[in-house]
Amino acid sequence: MPQNPAKLVVVGHGAAGLAAALSAAEQARGRGVSVDITVLEKSREDEAGGNTRWSPSNMRLDAPDRIDPAFADDMLKICGGRGDISYFRALAEHATATIGWLQRHGVEFITPLYYLSAGPARIQPVGGGGAIIQKLLAAAKQAGVKVRYEYEAQRLVMAEGRIGGIEVHAGVGAATTLDADAVILASGGFQGNPSMMRAHFGPGGESIRLISPGTRFDTGDGIRMATEQGANISGAWDGMHIEPVDPRSQHSAPVVLVYPYGIVVDQHGHRFFDEGGGLMHETWEALARDIHFARPKRLAYAILDSRLFDIDGYARAIRSEVPPVKADSIEALAAQISVPPDNLRSTVEAFNAAATGDPARFDAARCDGLAASSELKPPKSNWARAITKPPFLAYPLVGAIAYTFGGLATSTRAEVMGEQGPISGLYAAGETTGHFYGTAPNAVAVLRALVFGKIAGEAAVEFLQRR
Ligand SMILES: Cc1cc2nc3c(=O)[nH]c(=O)nc-3n(C[C@H](O)[C@H](O)[C@H](O)COP(=O)(O)OP(=O)(O)OC[C@H]3O[C@@H](n4cnc5c(N)ncnc54)[C@H](O)[C@@H]3O)c2cc1C
Repeated sequence: MPQNPAKLVVVGHGAAGLAAALSAAEQARGRGVSVDITVLEKSREDEAGGNTRWSPSNMRLDAPDRIDPAFADDMLKICGGRGDISYFRALAEHATATIGWLQRHGVEFITPLYYLSAGPARIQPVGGGGAIIQKLLAAAKQAGVKVRYEYEAQRLVMAEGRIGGIEVHAGVGAATTLDADAVILASGGFQGNPSMMRAHFGPGGESIRLISPGTRFDTGDGIRMATEQGANISGAWDGMHIEPVDPRSQHSAPVVLVYPYGIVVDQHGHRFFDEGGGLMHETWEALARDIHFARPKRLAYAILDSRLFDIDGYARAIRSEVPPVKADSIEALAAQISVPPDNLRSTVEAFNAAATGDPARFDAARCDGLAASSELKPPKSNWARAITKPPFLAYPLVGAIAYTFGGLATSTRAEVMGEQGPISGLYAAGETTGHFYGTAPNAVAVLRALVFGKIAGEAAVEFLQRR
């Protein structure tokens, strides 16, 4: 054993970073290894917590101690077969033990109600991601982890092929280098970096609204730092989780997820997609992406009638504090949202003429098969009830990004992979890692941040003990 404690630096103060720091501290204590652990966080203390802090942090488990046996296979399916099955198997294998660990640190879990339509089984921490941050931070500090706010990690310093230090910007001063024998990168995705967003999503990528106040800190720094040292990448670089939100709202994540029960039109009053093409969480990404990249003014409107208010629990699916635009006629509604009234009227008339199914079949919770007749273009495959009962309602919708999919390739031990295998002393977890393709697997991002954050902390200490 070297005399001086080994130095472990964790970059980022979200779910992944704090899980890594705490598990490293526990592992070091358990193994009797002296490790000096520092978390670097680029935001101010009062803003810290990244995306995690603003996230309800739903996790795809049947119960805190039970995960669907098909979890890993489902992940692969959602990724269109392109994901790494060993990564998803490791995630499933460690999920319930990680939840038990959080519970031992004071995080309580409930089974939440989902928005409106059915989704995969999930659990949720009481107090959401904020509670995860708070409890893990308190436990990490208690275990001796140091936290440095307003420290922005910028560059890995390598010495003979292994980690030697990390260059940081602290406050307004010049960059300084901190010694490090191992580094865990947990600095989120690149959604808060306009030039990376444009590079990977094309023109318009740079202007996507960020879904929460914590999202802006995730600027791809960890991904860049590791790829500069030859790290491999994984995940879909043009993939992101994006949701339809109300642009008038000042809230974090002001989603409007009742659009499947009405129609969605563009600025010209025309429909452009199948609003009932699947359960809400199967269509929200495609809709939000289409609005941002393909619709005039990057704006659309959900148009509904007052039967929305008869849907049990409808308010769960609207997180905007701003009420909908209301009018007693479709033309008056159109005038208020600056959509040509004649166009909106003919769109609604065409939709109503095709919505000939028995409205008694309407069931907001599942795909009810209440499809519009096949003449309607684009089709509406479920929840096709005529829009007839005033007041008529409109919610403006824009796309807002939560996180990106492209990131670092990591092993099941959270090692950052390079051409020759793991990069010695370098680990990563959470959004900084890739692994997601196609659409976002619902309620998995926080779970994987915690599971692989915890694994990264343990693996880094094992590495430091061996060095
Ligand atoms: C509104 C919202 C709702 C969501 N709902 C869910 C949900 O229900 N279920 C689910 O699974 N997922 C959900 N997600 C996604 C999920 O919350 C995130 O993917 C996950 O929390 C990411 O954790 P992380 O630790 O990887 O990143 P973050 O929590 O974003 O933490 C990254 C940290 O790194 C810091 N950082 C960045 N760069 C540097 C640097 N150079 N130096 C130092 N520090 C740096 C950032 O400031 C930040 O504190 C949601 C996200 C949002 C925003």
